[in-house]
Amino acid sequence: MNDLKTFEAWFVTGSQHLYGEETLRQVAEHALIVADALNDSPLIPVRIVCKPVVKTPEEIHRLLQEANAAKDCVGIIAWMHTFSPAKMWIGGLKALQKPLLHLHTQFNRDIPWSDIDMDFMNLNQSAHGDREFGFIMSRMRLNRKVVTGHWQDPQVHERLAAWLRAACGWHDWQGAKFVRFGDNMRQVAVTEGDKVEAEIKFGYSVNTHGVGDLAAEIAAVPASTVEELIADYHRSYTMTPALFTSPALRDATRIEAGLRSFLQKGGYKGYTDTFEDLHGIVQLPGIATQRLMAEGYGFGAEGDWKTAALVRAMKVMATGLKGGNSFMEDYTYHFDPNNPLVLGSHMLEICPSIADDTPSCEIHPLGIGGKADPVRLVFNSAAGPALNASIVDMGNRFRLLVNEVVAVSPIHSLPKLPVARVLWKPYPDMATGCTAWIYAGGAHHTCYSQNLTSEHLEDFAEMAGIELVLIDRNTKLHALKNELRWSEAYYR
Ligand code: MN
Repeated sequence: MNDLKTFEAWFVTGSQHLYGEETLRQVAEHALIVADALNDSPLIPVRIVCKPVVKTPEEIHRLLQEANAAKDCVGIIAWMHTFSPAKMWIGGLKALQKPLLHLHTQFNRDIPWSDIDMDFMNLNQSAHGDREFGFIMSRMRLNRKVVTGHWQDPQVHERLAAWLRAACGWHDWQGAKFVRFGDNMRQVAVTEGDKVEAEIKFGYSVNTHGVGDLAAEIAAVPASTVEELIADYHRSYTMTPALFTSPALRDATRIEAGLRSFLQKGGYKGYTDTFEDLHGIVQLPGIATQRLMAEGYGFGAEGDWKTAALVRAMKVMATGLKGGNSFMEDYTYHFDPNNPLVLGSHMLEICPSIADDTPSCEIHPLGIGGKADPVRLVFNSAAGPALNASIVDMGNRFRLLVNEVVAVSPIHSLPKLPVARVLWKPYPDMATGCTAWIYAGGAHHTCYSQNLTSEHLEDFAEMAGIELVLIDRNTKLHALKNELRWSEAYYR
């Protein structure tokens, strides 16, 4: 998952036969120029494939069916250079199963004031052609993203890029498999949910495997693999000599290799575990989970499969961007009125993709679970804009909740805190942000992202057809409470 250029989006230009061959030739030529320009943009993460101009209901239906079946196609970018009567699109749009972005652009940026004539007007009709197309999508109640502006404008490329990244995450979920070692942490509510509904809605499956099967895989790890991983840890992290030679470190590498092998053999894109069910495993997986997350696997602790799947999708969306994405938990608060902060962390499992320095490999006791002291990576995370995202199961629907935050550098050293950690300030302010999150039923588990924006997640929620609740600079509690109430009616 190093490069999203293995994926493609199809650039589809609509027209009709009314205009004659010369106009249609120009439409096709312009479509190719626009698609080439998008391919040349450093912002666009996937290949843009220009398809022949569609002019009849049959051509539209055939092309969109082909898109459904094309395994690397993450979505359709549609543009009506000329007027394409939209009844022609109904059959194709009814069949389309991939995300659609409506690019409301125009080939010429400026009106050619001294030369404009009716030939020019007949060719450059997207101002009304795209309205006809927009109507049918609204009439059919189809979710899509509309992006307006000239195709050479970098801001248009940014809007497209956000959607394309979301589409890659969505594409990755279709048919994805997540494994759940053990069940849920006993009695916990928010990490539970309807896995059948999730598979229908999101396209991924979550199934359990006996933790004994994982223990067997760990026991079968060859000694040579253990030595290779020890050498890799030594190269990658700071570590005390005592830990370097300890049996506990060898146990940790064996857990990592066994987990990786289990995931690879089963074709899994992520997993959950729980400290309450580790029979046959000597430590709660700490550094193993941290390193597997850094490789792109999704993870959720305590059986939290919704967060595991979300972490995976967000890692795919962010491929190639500076910064990282990690499983996260709102752990403890600093209620200083002059500098209120949230400290985010977990018992062990924070992804080193968000570390701002070389992680320190350490071993410390874990107060719960009754297992041997687990090895973990300890680090601070970089300051800067970030967000927390959480999917919760509201019983009648899934809700994606996003809180924009700003991470800050540690204001004091934390010499006795043996876990990776992040400090952040929620928008619009600590009290409003946390209050809004609680009203919306957001989980304590999230995916923390340094490089995705709420735009990526809004586009993703549109593709999934689920509710998005955004807590940002503009959030007012009164309006948010009404939004939650009105959404109850909308999703009923
Ligand atoms: Mn937790």
